Amino acid sequence: MPPRVLLAGLFHETHTFLAGRTTLAEFDMRVGDQLWTAERDGSPLAGALDVARSAGWDVVPVIDLRATPGPTVDDAVVEHFWSAVAAVLSDEKYEGFDGVYLVLHGAMVSESLVDVEGEILSRMRDAIGADVPVCGVLDLHGNITARMAANSHGLVAYRQNPHADACAAARDGALLLDRLIRSGERPVTVWEHPPVMWPPTGTGTAFEPMRTLEAMARQIEEVHEEILVVNVFAGFSFADTPDTGVSFTAITLGEPRYARAELEELSDWTVQNRQLGNVLEEPLAKVMSALASPPLSKGGAGGVAPQSARSPGPTVLAEPSDNIGGGAPGDGTGLLKAFIDHRLENAAVAICDPAAVRTVSNLKPGDKTTLDIGGRGSPLGGGPLRLEVTLVSTSDGRFDLEDPHSHLASMSGSRFDMGRCAVVRHAGVLILLTSRKTPPFDLGQWRSQGIAPEKLAVIGVKAAVAHRKVYDPIATAHYTVETPGPCSSNLKLFPFERVHRPIYPL
Ligand SMILES: [Zn+2]
Repeated sequence: MPPRVLLAGLFHETHTFLAGRTTLAEFDMRVGDQLWTAERDGSPLAGALDVARSAGWDVVPVIDLRATPGPTVDDAVVEHFWSAVAAVLSDEKYEGFDGVYLVLHGAMVSESLVDVEGEILSRMRDAIGADVPVCGVLDLHGNITARMAANSHGLVAYRQNPHADACAAARDGALLLDRLIRSGERPVTVWEHPPVMWPPTGTGTAFEPMRTLEAMARQIEEVHEEILVVNVFAGFSFADTPDTGVSFTAITLGEPRYARAELEELSDWTVQNRQLGNVLEEPLAKVMSALASPPLSKGGAGGVAPQSARSPGPTVLAEPSDNIGGGAPGDGTGLLKAFIDHRLENAAVAICDPAAVRTVSNLKPGDKTTLDIGGRGSPLGGGPLRLEVTLVSTSDGRFDLEDPHSHLASMSGSRFDMGRCAVVRHAGVLILLTSRKTPPFDLGQWRSQGIAPEKLAVIGVKAAVAHRKVYDPIATAHYTVETPGPCSSNLKLFPFERVHRPIYPL
């Protein structure tokens, strides 16, 4: 008899400092046999399906829900998932299951659950008993808990960031489940959580500290045969939960205390080297005073341009805290306020604010009004900025991409729709107000509004890295600056309430 395996997925990286809710409508949903449509698409679900087919499982696909990172998830999403799973578990036609495989993230938070994955695994164990093996896959950015460890037999994490190995890790988790089903082995998972958090900018596995931690984990797996898997979790600091931060798990067939001793070495190394993962941006005030003291073109750290070889172009200030490509609202006002406070001339920044666009839609170019601009997408975004502005122009916001191979093209094709737009001016600063968040990866965004970006003195950009392909060629200098915002690398700026303290770097 082929083993009967229940297969389901519930995947979300939850940014609890963002306003609003992630609703069921924002999740891609596959139900029943629709899960097979993910076969060979490179996703974690595809990895599980791969093993299901090759190992000859009698797989029962139930439901797969996934959404891009965003604010706290509606409780209804979790209950929708669980009711689908519970219905299959209690359906007599299946006569029980030999194993369960779950595609999870590990940093999902709903309105009333700070540990969604722990809750789902716990309900699963209550429903099917402790002896049916429950395995699956987790993102490297999971905030892992004792509850997840206690209620699972083998959750395998990605080992790479960027996550090039998500499908492979899912396959490893499925192969482990197959082994447990056939052998009757029932490993336990031990968990260690050093009091350390890192911003996402410090969690790349090609760099320290993650590079050494992953190497240490592989070494433990190699030396100790009874330890089947050692997982390194960088954690997701923008999800405020009691156990947020770096953690390690070991899936072991041996004495748990021996595996724990190995994980304690990983924890000790993490505490000793905690500063390596706390990668910060430059203080805005320092960069602004550098801008104020001429010549502009001698920009300091982060400067990119050989100044002599080109005509003067703009100084670009990037703010990762409001990185639109990373899920931020694109309406933070920290940089705009600094431009105005420092009386910059010939500066520009784009802000997503559909309400402000509507407010000026009945005005004529040259009309003046007072606007509350931006700052509503996140309580960390600096709040709205009240400014008297002059309307420069309005448009439908559609533009053809200048760079057909930009990062934006990979998301939207050759045309982008910013929604209704308005350009307004306050003193020397132009503000492009858009109705839709527009990742700043194509200069057509400016030129379509009658603004030549290469003729500006200063441009503010809401991105971390991906904008540089188009901005570096026109820039005389480039700075990555620290502003308040939901994707800031400075974790001390966030109003953490739930995380256990003390924890570095708070
Ligand atoms: Zn991740």
